[in-house]
Amino acid sequence: MSNDGNSNDGNTDPRAAFGFETRMIHAGAQPEPVTGARQTPIYQNTSYVFHDVDHAASLFNLQTFGFIYSRLTNPTVAVLEERLASLEGGRGATCCASGHAAQILTFFAFMEPGDGFIASNRLYGGSITQFGKTFKKFDWHVTFVDVDDPDAVRAAITPKCKAIFVESLANPGGVVSDLESLAAIAKEAGILLIVDNTMATPYLCQPFNWGADLVVHSTTKFLSGNGTSVGGGVVDSGTFDWAQNDKFKGLTAPEPAYHGLSFYETFGDMAFTTHAHAVGLRDLGPTMAPMNAFQTLLGIETLSLRMERHCANAAQVARYLEAHPAVAWVSCAALESSPYHELARKYLPRGAGSVFTFGLKGGFDAGIKMVESCNLFSHLANIGDSRSLILHPASTTHRQLTEEQQIAAGAGPDVIRLSVGLETVDDLIADLDQALAALD
Ligand SMILES: *Cc1c(COP(=O)(O)O)cnc(C)c1O
Repeated sequence: MSNDGNSNDGNTDPRAAFGFETRMIHAGAQPEPVTGARQTPIYQNTSYVFHDVDHAASLFNLQTFGFIYSRLTNPTVAVLEERLASLEGGRGATCCASGHAAQILTFFAFMEPGDGFIASNRLYGGSITQFGKTFKKFDWHVTFVDVDDPDAVRAAITPKCKAIFVESLANPGGVVSDLESLAAIAKEAGILLIVDNTMATPYLCQPFNWGADLVVHSTTKFLSGNGTSVGGGVVDSGTFDWAQNDKFKGLTAPEPAYHGLSFYETFGDMAFTTHAHAVGLRDLGPTMAPMNAFQTLLGIETLSLRMERHCANAAQVARYLEAHPAVAWVSCAALESSPYHELARKYLPRGAGSVFTFGLKGGFDAGIKMVESCNLFSHLANIGDSRSLILHPASTTHRQLTEEQQIAAGAGPDVIRLSVGLETVDDLIADLDQALAALD
């Protein structure tokens, strides 16, 4: 299978050789065979009639692919899964209720009580809380590491460690992970590299090209692109050897609920994706609603166009802020001044995304005043909307972290996060300009 993002040789569908923009619109979808409906229908439906008892038995035994019950699979969600897999250059995808659900589904496939994994200390604040606090209840243990330091990553790998988890482009701080070198470390240790590609999207970054094994998404953000639908997904490259050591018994050992089949032996490069549906969604239950899959598919149809404008607007706003006297610093990988500029040119050649942070000389109080003074930028906790958004993380998304964790995550008291939208850029700069003037 080629992972160059423009072809997918492992897929026998001839359309898999099409370019990225063509696959944004067509991958996974066909005219509906009964009515000819061209847009993917919303199958607002829970269950599917069996042809006969033998058909039902083969579906339940995982001998035939098909639809049984929408907790496991749904035709609208299945189109989104194929589309996401195609855009990432992966083998299969599993969509679910949110980005956080995707992270639980991902780890659930191979973690046992007592196991651990390494995660970047610069992640979306919600992920730091989910990994550091809630995962402990499953007896899963995270070690947060500065992933810019390869020696620190190697030193944190223990016999119980199953994976390294990073964001390609970190939320919020304009930090770019060195995916190729992290993949080499993971490969040497026989563990997974899992990349959260939410902020970059597959249009800006293709983690599988650099050796990642699994990609997770919050489809809530740029993929849906319009602030309507919470959702998530995990894409499998299909290239990880689950049997290379005894760490991944969840996928290699006999599964009693399915007559002792081993997912890896039976499904090969579809082992993870089949397991995520047949065990993960079956037993954890965080299903994506068909309506949300439909909204997300609509969003993906324009992904490349939106990301180009997001990136261009964000770079212009960042340059404006960098020159403003009330601004202490701007952390945006699009700027030449960023220590991550070179990594961005390598991993995000089409643009460094539209979410970045800057610091106000006036600190915490100025941060609060700034978000309250904006008119066009909406003060809310989301990113990746067509509308421009502003947030003061220390008083909102990152308030559950200690100040030390806030600073490590790039979300200290003086920090403002922007998600630059698709509006006329001069209007966005004018709005920030009047809000900054109000700080004096
Ligand atoms: C929003 C976000 C998540 C969590 O996704 P939800 O859909 O809100 O559950 C995970 N990672 C990143 C980078 C995010 O921005």
